[in-house]
Amino acid sequence: MLIANKIELRPTLEQADDLNRACGARRHCYNQLLDHFSQPGVTWSKAAAYQHSMTVLRVQFPWYSEVSSRVTRNAIDDLDTAFKGFFRRVKNGSKKPGYPRFKKKDVNDSFALREPSKFAVDGRTLRIERLKTRIALRQRLRFAGQTKQATISKRAGRFFVSILVETQDYNPHAPDRPSVGVDFGIKDLAVLSTGEAIPANPRLKKNLKQLKRRQRNLSRKAKGSRRRAKAKLKVAKLHARIGNQRQAVLHELSDMLTRTYQVITIEDLNVSGMTKNRKLARAVSDAGFGELRRQIEYKAQWRGVTVVIADRWFPSSKTCHACGQIHDLPLSQRIMSCDCGHVMDRDLNAALNLNQYGLDALKPDLKRTQEPDKTGSKGPALALTA
Ligand SMILES: [Zn+2]
Repeated sequence: MLIANKIELRPTLEQADDLNRACGARRHCYNQLLDHFSQPGVTWSKAAAYQHSMTVLRVQFPWYSEVSSRVTRNAIDDLDTAFKGFFRRVKNGSKKPGYPRFKKKDVNDSFALREPSKFAVDGRTLRIERLKTRIALRQRLRFAGQTKQATISKRAGRFFVSILVETQDYNPHAPDRPSVGVDFGIKDLAVLSTGEAIPANPRLKKNLKQLKRRQRNLSRKAKGSRRRAKAKLKVAKLHARIGNQRQAVLHELSDMLTRTYQVITIEDLNVSGMTKNRKLARAVSDAGFGELRRQIEYKAQWRGVTVVIADRWFPSSKTCHACGQIHDLPLSQRIMSCDCGHVMDRDLNAALNLNQYGLDALKPDLKRTQEPDKTGSKGPALALTA
């Protein structure tokens, strides 16, 4: 299976300069080729393009080869794809023939290293041919396997590499633990029915606080002033860093869950309903639960893991795990304490209920109601009838 892993690069100024030149060379070459093959009487073919690039362009623009030997090949491949699409659409009588267009600077700037020998990933560094030094990566490659291709792209002034990995890593060995219930917490990012708590990232928390400060600071600056522009840039940069940190945290958790457990039961967070409770809403949007659920679902598919989503009326936090009694537990109360003698951390109690929910849902001999009743009753929606 081929998996693309996109990682931000942290080039030095000199390295960024090299990357910019590589993107520029590819764009320049593409535009030169397009210009040449748009002339009347000149017909596009990959062979003709190759010939033209070797005998004319590389001679005229020797700086192409300073960055990577691949830029002309990249440009030819891309233009070939563009022309093929164009000819196909013309043949099909499509109204929008869409002749290939010239590439603009800073719009989808990128270049690809399509041969494994042209680059190498080692820990948190990336080697690219023609570059004397290794470029630092923000994260490690998340998959073990053979790297096939690296595409370097630029977005809003930052560089990313998307590495294509041929990997068996999506299911190196089947998850060996049977099941888990996951309660997405407020204090912790998640609490598992095994008793394990996954703490919220402290650096992320710190940055979120800092973001608030910077946003306040920004709002105090006069409109149109230089200081405002500066403050705005600071906010944007921190936003981006927080986004990356959040992604990293969520990937780590979704990887761990789908690699360890055969059945994962999570709650269906009704995020729009939760936004009514501002405190909870803040926590929900901070942790990115929607994204976490998406990651767990697609990774579960790779790894042959079953995900059960408990419907949103399932009172996972309010049900005593020992006796099944439902309590009216305010959000501030962190301990489930039942008349039956069961006393437990609220989130762990919820995680255990979710795990049970998943196991019950998968029992083949039980019939269950498809939909929770629409009267808004908060009773358990999963009515089990033996
Ligand atoms: Zn009880």
